[in-house]
Amino acid sequence: MSSNLVKSLARVYDPKPLHAQKRCGRATTRRASLSTSNKRLSSPLSDQPSSKSSSSSALVHIEGQVNDLSGKIDKLLALQEASLRRLDTIGQDQGTATGGRSIEQLLCDMRAVIETVRENEEQQDQRLDALERLVSSIQQVVSFIAEVLKHSRLADLLKNSKSSSRFREKDGKEKSKVYPKGLKTQKRKKPLEASETAAGTVAHLEQKGDCYKDRKDEAAVEDEAREQEIVAELLQIKEEDKKEEEERSKEEEALWLSEERQLAAPSSSGQTDESTPDSCEENLEITFSTKRHVADETLTDDLKKSRVEEASEEEDKELKEEEEAGLEAAEAGPERLEAGTEEERTDAESEIDEYVIDSSPPPPAPFEHRLVTPKTHQITSYYTINKEEVLGGGRFGMVHKCEEKSSGLILAAKIIKARSQKEKEVVKCEIEVMNQLNHANLIQLYAAFESRHEIILVMEYVDGGELFDRIIDENYKLTELDTVLFIRQISEGLQYMHKMYILHLDLKPENILCVSRETNKVKIIDFGLARRYKPREKLRVNFGTPEFLAPEVINYEFVSFPTDMWSLGVITYMLLSGLSPFLGEDDNETLNNILACQWSFEEAEFADISEEAKDFITRLLVKSKSWRMSASQSLKHPWLSDRALHFRLHHKKNKCHSSHAPPPEG
Ligand code: ADP
Repeated sequence: MSSNLVKSLARVYDPKPLHAQKRCGRATTRRASLSTSNKRLSSPLSDQPSSKSSSSSALVHIEGQVNDLSGKIDKLLALQEASLRRLDTIGQDQGTATGGRSIEQLLCDMRAVIETVRENEEQQDQRLDALERLVSSIQQVVSFIAEVLKHSRLADLLKNSKSSSRFREKDGKEKSKVYPKGLKTQKRKKPLEASETAAGTVAHLEQKGDCYKDRKDEAAVEDEAREQEIVAELLQIKEEDKKEEEERSKEEEALWLSEERQLAAPSSSGQTDESTPDSCEENLEITFSTKRHVADETLTDDLKKSRVEEASEEEDKELKEEEEAGLEAAEAGPERLEAGTEEERTDAESEIDEYVIDSSPPPPAPFEHRLVTPKTHQITSYYTINKEEVLGGGRFGMVHKCEEKSSGLILAAKIIKARSQKEKEVVKCEIEVMNQLNHANLIQLYAAFESRHEIILVMEYVDGGELFDRIIDENYKLTELDTVLFIRQISEGLQYMHKMYILHLDLKPENILCVSRETNKVKIIDFGLARRYKPREKLRVNFGTPEFLAPEVINYEFVSFPTDMWSLGVITYMLLSGLSPFLGEDDNETLNNILACQWSFEEAEFADISEEAKDFITRLLVKSKSWRMSASQSLKHPWLSDRALHFRLHHKKNKCHSSHAPPPEG
């Protein structure tokens, strides 16, 4: 109100004279000068005698008016003075209110405060940015770990084991026995660090949150709210991390247990009877009859035991000569070298270093890997199927040699009888699996044709015959090193399949084809039972020949990657000895042998076989599937990877007994 009054007064009065009057005390002077001028005006009039009376009345009138005016002027001056006094009072009031500082100073102060607030705000923004980055990196870490776990087949395996209370109950005791504490902590350390970081950050933020509560300005309140939001988010992440961490620890515990088991696999054929029973979710029933039974054919029981045929004297002599000649430096490898001179040692060592087995892959298919969908056209429009040339007889049909008309490419046509939709689906599953497999050790699919009663698979053709034939061929000198080469390739094929999450589930010597008669290159065929690994899938097999079946298949338990590894163990045993490790008098006995994991190294057949080979088999023919070597581990096993051993085997040329012919029947 006072400032309005001041302004309106300032408008009424010209500030300049007011100011001047105030400063010089002109008000009184002006009044005095007016009176003086009045006095001066009266004096000339009084000097004229002729009009004395009238002029004197006029003068009186004028004087009255002048007095009026001066009265008014006095009032105005009094008002002006009052106003000035009022202005002074207002000025003083304002001075008291601002603490004696000028408005300019106040404005400066306010500007400084605003600047500070702004700076604070910037700092808060930076801190928030940093926090957001931290949160997003934590999220990335969490999602990365989740992704890794999601894609880990072992994690899946472990999840199953974890969800199976039976597994836990049964293995609980053993777990605590074999689980090394230190390692457990170490294993857990990494994920813990991540969550600890989050926890630390949260705690830090919580503290900060408390500090911020004391701040009064609006920006701080806003910041506080934002920060609390982040704190809440981080707490949530921390909570999720904790849960994930708990799950991870359990999985890692089981993983470690399984790794430990594999490392500590038994060193003799005495097998543990422990199985890993799993709960059932998905059951799969597949009925088939295997192609051949060693015992059913000409070989019968003879193959099992009497293939331990005595080598003829001539053969023995030959063998001895070979050994004596070639072995001097080589046979004993490092042990023998100890006796020799330093020079001999260096020579032999460099020879070992130079010796590398031919582990190159077999020639690839003569066409690029392709994704095949069954065509409904007539196959005969594109291919000439040689009905005369039967390459083999399978479960559901025949395999013939065929030729693509347009290119002249020689291929194999597998004709599968499939009338019902269900049967067709099974064959389509085989196609789907083959579509996913692009590896030189796995036979490649070229085309497929579907008609009312059959589906024909056109595949890469190989000429070397079945590996089975090499086991029983008396003219074929199968050495231990040959076996190393075969098993290496099968392991490589399996490693690839398992990496692709595919199980073969029907590995046996009949399903391993040699690329040619001259080389030791092989390819795996028959993906009729192969399927994508599903954590809880069981395989029901209505078998004809049970000798290659893994215990979990017979027990109708979950099948998994180790199921194929069991079969690899059986194949290795068969290649080295010519015997079928579990083969009994009849199928019942065979089944019982498998279930009891009842097998041993027949002395005669394994007399010349390296300890490494025996150890290799021992680590595969293990009843509990979690104790078996994986395909990758098998490739690292000394039998498949130790150069010095291969060098020794190369010079020793020890024949496998399987190369000896069974005695003629009758
Ligand atoms: P099934 O699934 O019906 O058992 P396979 O795929 O095992 O049929 O084939 C049966 C036999 O045919 C094999 O054991 C093998 O002797 C022969 N065979 C299969 N595929 C080929 C091929 N690509 N090249 C040469 N021979 C083959």
